[in-house]
Amino acid sequence: MKAQDYPPAVQELIAQLKRMPGTGSRGAERLALWFLQQGRNEARNLSVALLHAADSIGTCPSCGFFSVRGEQCIACSDPTRDSSQICVVEQPTDVLPIERCGSFRGLYHCLGGKISPLDGIMPEDLSLASLRERVAAHPGCELILAVGSDVEGEATALYLAELFARADCRITRLAQGMPAGAGLGQADAITLMRALQGRHSIS
Ligand SMILES: [Zn+2]
Repeated sequence: MKAQDYPPAVQELIAQLKRMPGTGSRGAERLALWFLQQGRNEARNLSVALLHAADSIGTCPSCGFFSVRGEQCIACSDPTRDSSQICVVEQPTDVLPIERCGSFRGLYHCLGGKISPLDGIMPEDLSLASLRERVAAHPGCELILAVGSDVEGEATALYLAELFARADCRITRLAQGMPAGAGLGQADAITLMRALQGRHSIS
């Protein structure tokens, strides 16, 4: 005997929710049932918010961070930001964690990924032409490479260091080391090695 399932409309809703990152089958089902129990208003509010975001949000033409479509982002449009510092990140989603730490007042540049030949991502797939233009427009600027510390992030950082080696800019890399509040026992060997390499004088 065929097992009973939800009506097709609910199945379709679950299938759509399941496509979202971090949502498995059970999570999608729970969300779908919650929406059904909330009634029409909740469904309408969500669909209006989704459409509004999709229609109005694009990427900043200067740095690639999220912005109102066709406009510069909050950082690039802020005249008080320090244009002599450009923090290079892999994705637009990497910008907000840095913003939230509250100690960076420069600008950003989102590469749109990291070099990963295994995934078919090569340097020409990253937004490097616009980065070269920005460096040329700000002689003497500092390029802060805030890409990840995994193999692909390291490869991307090395490539950028070589690409801009002769450009009029200073290239720095985010320090790596011990996470705040952690003891030595919790750190893996690579983290400890980088913490030793990145040590600084306190007296
Ligand atoms: Zn921007």
